[in-house]
Amino acid sequence: MIALVSAGAASARALDLGPLTCTGGAVSAQEAFALDPMALDCSPDRFADGRPFVRAHVAIDSSRFPEGVPLVWQSNPALYDSLLLQFTYADGSRRLVDVDRRTATRNWIAGNRFAVSVPPAAARLVEVDAVIEKPRAPSTLRNALLTDRTSAAREHYIRSLAYVLLCGLLIVPLVYDVLFYRVLRARFMLWHLAMATAMFVFVSSSSGLVFIPFPDMPLATRWYLSSVSLTITIAASLMFTVGLLERRVVPTWLSAYVIVATSALLVLKLIGLLHFEWMRMAIVSWYLVAVLAAAIGAVMLIAVGLAHRIRAAVFLAIGFSGMLLTLAITLLVRIGSVSVRVSLDDVLYAGLVIMVLGTSAGVADRFLVLRSERDRARSRASMLGKLALTDGLTGLLNRRAFDRLASLSDRHGLLLGDIDRFKQINDDYGHQAGDEVLCQVALVLREGMGNRHGVRVFRLGGEEFAIVAPIANGEDLLDKAEHLRLLVEEGTARAISNDLPTITISFGGVVGHGQSMREALAVADRALYRAKRGGRNRSEIDSAVQAGDGDGLGEFLSGQPSPI
Ligand code: GH3
Ligand code: MG
Ligand code: MG
Repeated sequence: MIALVSAGAASARALDLGPLTCTGGAVSAQEAFALDPMALDCSPDRFADGRPFVRAHVAIDSSRFPEGVPLVWQSNPALYDSLLLQFTYADGSRRLVDVDRRTATRNWIAGNRFAVSVPPAAARLVEVDAVIEKPRAPSTLRNALLTDRTSAAREHYIRSLAYVLLCGLLIVPLVYDVLFYRVLRARFMLWHLAMATAMFVFVSSSSGLVFIPFPDMPLATRWYLSSVSLTITIAASLMFTVGLLERRVVPTWLSAYVIVATSALLVLKLIGLLHFEWMRMAIVSWYLVAVLAAAIGAVMLIAVGLAHRIRAAVFLAIGFSGMLLTLAITLLVRIGSVSVRVSLDDVLYAGLVIMVLGTSAGVADRFLVLRSERDRARSRASMLGKLALTDGLTGLLNRRAFDRLASLSDRHGLLLGDIDRFKQINDDYGHQAGDEVLCQVALVLREGMGNRHGVRVFRLGGEEFAIVAPIANGEDLLDKAEHLRLLVEEGTARAISNDLPTITISFGGVVGHGQSMREALAVADRALYRAKRGGRNRSEIDSAVQAGDGDGLGEFLSGQPSPI
């Protein structure tokens, strides 16, 4: 046997009874106490007896404790039905203590132990016998200790403080997982949240901190809590790992393997909770095999992540290293090839700290990467969205944008503008000059309408423009049309070249009353046609208030070109 760690519980004032204890099984407490101590099993497998009553016997060299120092017997409170302790003293006297579950709870020592005071006697303690009915885990006996009461109390306070700090550390990822998830709804953050929550429940229940706020919590409840939460921690950490690595990176067979291993873990835990008599002890070993399978899954996932150079996988590797080391130590202790002088729970807690720090760094890293990818995708999408609605030549909104308008609401007007005899410009000065005219007219229309809220200027195609703007009434719309018409007339050709003739535009307009945009466009188009027929470079407004009003033609307003 190799002693891995020689510090910790084996102080001068503590006697580790685990290695000294010999056990045997019986079908009743009386029969168990009647077993001959010399005939008990002291082999490495001695704790795995299947019979319901397990008798443990240990002869004690209590000379290492100063005379008269009050002693306490400590052991792991994994679930059992009943526990009787028999203390035998050098003068042959015996004292029996019935440790019911409430006693165990009340005499809790932080770090998965409870203490039972050794009844004081005139002579030295020489033997301890324990009869445990239906222990659910062999660690109950394997981790037995004899210590003096002062050391036990001191250890309790130091450990309580350490576990409070550990639980505080576990709350940090809970907070930032929630904050991250609000910004970026990635599922792996929920798995990380589940993992950190389960870890918090595990550490607070397994260490016994839970008895501070809930002093009357039954031992069984604490046992269920810590046992289930550890399983959920492992399951959630695996699902988190699959989620953190991108889907395209993780092969399907590996995802399937991880899901099967995780399910096996949960199912075995569930079976363990049902307390089937025939597998009371065996289930612990099967469960460990499932944990091992899950750990292999985690290693493969991390390896895949590292192979694909995903930076978060490095943090995962660091995070999982603590847990994998813990698992390796636990397995080695189980098969009896090493002995560890610190409690396996403390090794596990240290593994959890590394795990939570590593995986939190992984979450933060992935969050930053995904957020910047998301922002880039969003700005690309918004750019494409804008491009899809923009006219390439003039930069105005295009026909597609116009077609998105469903109706022309009250207090809005639509103007349709068409450059007069534009074909002639193309024919006389070339297509490029025509393009320049289109751009200049677009600029004049946009600037002419100003930056007012609700104004939208479109190029519908060719040399046709549309303007939707808030207006007071038909006259206001006509004023706007005239204003724009004059601006185009005065400001287009001159801005391009002195060679160009005066460019003019005609407008047809309609006042909104909730009609569909199609209908409004048709009416405005008819008004424009009238403007063209009326000699061009003029504005015609159809200001009918209601569709179907009167004879349907409504009242016409028109703007005349100013005399030159
Ligand atoms: P009217 O006064 O009756 O509106 O006469 P018009 O010449 O302006 O109208 P017509 O519909 O006959 O001609 C429109 C011309 O616009 C025909 C086409 O070659 C030209 N055009 C359409 N799109 C563009 C473009 O993007 N750039 C240029 N330069 N010309 C264009
Ligand atoms: Mg036209
Ligand atoms: Mg035209």
